[in-house]
Amino acid sequence: MKRLALFWLWLCLSTTILFASIAILEKAEIKKGELRLHFNKAYNKGKIRHFTLKNPYREIFDIPNARLKNRYVGKNLYSSHCHSIRVSQFKPNTVRVVLETGKGYGCSAYRPLLSYKSYHIPLPHFKVKPRKSVKVKPTKQTKKYTHKSKKRADKKKKRVSNAYVIDTPKIYHKGAGELIVIDAGHGGHDTGAIGGGKREKDLVLQIAKRLERQLKKRGFRVHMTRRTDKFLKLPQRTKIADKKDAKVFISIHANSVPKRKRNKIHGVETFYLQKTRDAKSQRIAARENKAVLKGAGSSLSKKVIVDSVLNGPKIIESNKLAIDVQRRMLANLRAHYRGVKDGGVRHAPFWVLVGASRPSILVEVGYISHPRERKRLFTPRYQELIAKGIAEGVANYLKNRRKEIEF
Ligand SMILES: [Zn+2]
Repeated sequence: MKRLALFWLWLCLSTTILFASIAILEKAEIKKGELRLHFNKAYNKGKIRHFTLKNPYREIFDIPNARLKNRYVGKNLYSSHCHSIRVSQFKPNTVRVVLETGKGYGCSAYRPLLSYKSYHIPLPHFKVKPRKSVKVKPTKQTKKYTHKSKKRADKKKKRVSNAYVIDTPKIYHKGAGELIVIDAGHGGHDTGAIGGGKREKDLVLQIAKRLERQLKKRGFRVHMTRRTDKFLKLPQRTKIADKKDAKVFISIHANSVPKRKRNKIHGVETFYLQKTRDAKSQRIAARENKAVLKGAGSSLSKKVIVDSVLNGPKIIESNKLAIDVQRRMLANLRAHYRGVKDGGVRHAPFWVLVGASRPSILVEVGYISHPRERKRLFTPRYQELIAKGIAEGVANYLKNRRKEIEF
């Protein structure tokens, strides 16, 4: 019994000592021509191993008994004096810093006199072309996503195998598993717009299913508010998004105008939620909101919808998402079809977006009332291009957002 107690005492003491000796790298920043590392406490400068590697020329610093505070530390470091600057958890207790400068410059790092917790690594005086910080080992979906031609893929492979694998362990992976909610508009007795005998509810479900495949292909998880021809009250749609803790909410609709205008008006539009004075947005919102007013009972009025509009950063995020999605949809469609009109990114007080407490957009994929556009909208190829465009937009948006957070 006594022996056991002693053993426990020893274990506790040794782990305390062990963990006490680990310095946490809290921050890495570029300031006054130096890469500055800030630890949570004083560390043993003498133990830092500094050496260089060639092809390409790199200054390497291995800092033992150190850990990154989190995966964001040392990401997105750029300088016009280095091709790249990378900070990583090289081994469980070793942080590695790599400056790729292309050539030597007599780098001598130091611990500032009055700041025992910092370590400064001067950057070269000469300028080089900065490269983005390295993404190592493209994972399945980034590979799929970026590989356009074999040539490019080979190039990438070459660059990766060129040696960077050693100094960057698993980096926070992009696009992996984020949940996207896709909401196919209308359904059941609510047909949505009708043009030339074709119904909005059928069209948007077809596109939603294609979008689901496109997103899954890129490594996202997807939840569909409906996958059959059923009616959902609008508040139910966003409630699902909230419950499922989705990263992004995308509602898919098709637009239409009265007969006398049907040959004139066409194009792709993406909406995000905001109070609006724009008459056209208001008209479209009124049409799309109609089902809510019918379905949700007397307590709601159009005014309630407009007044309950959210404010703040989510609007900005939704706006960014809308811009990315609109851009990628147009790029895809225009690569294969002529005369695709850019209806722009607009804001409108859509009910369906009000309840969603996450970046939310409503895509009007085209005008079902326009004869040529309707014909296109019901071809698999056109639908696929729309789906691909939305998926690329979402992936792009989330990539940029991650970058912002990491910064
Ligand atoms: Zn609709």
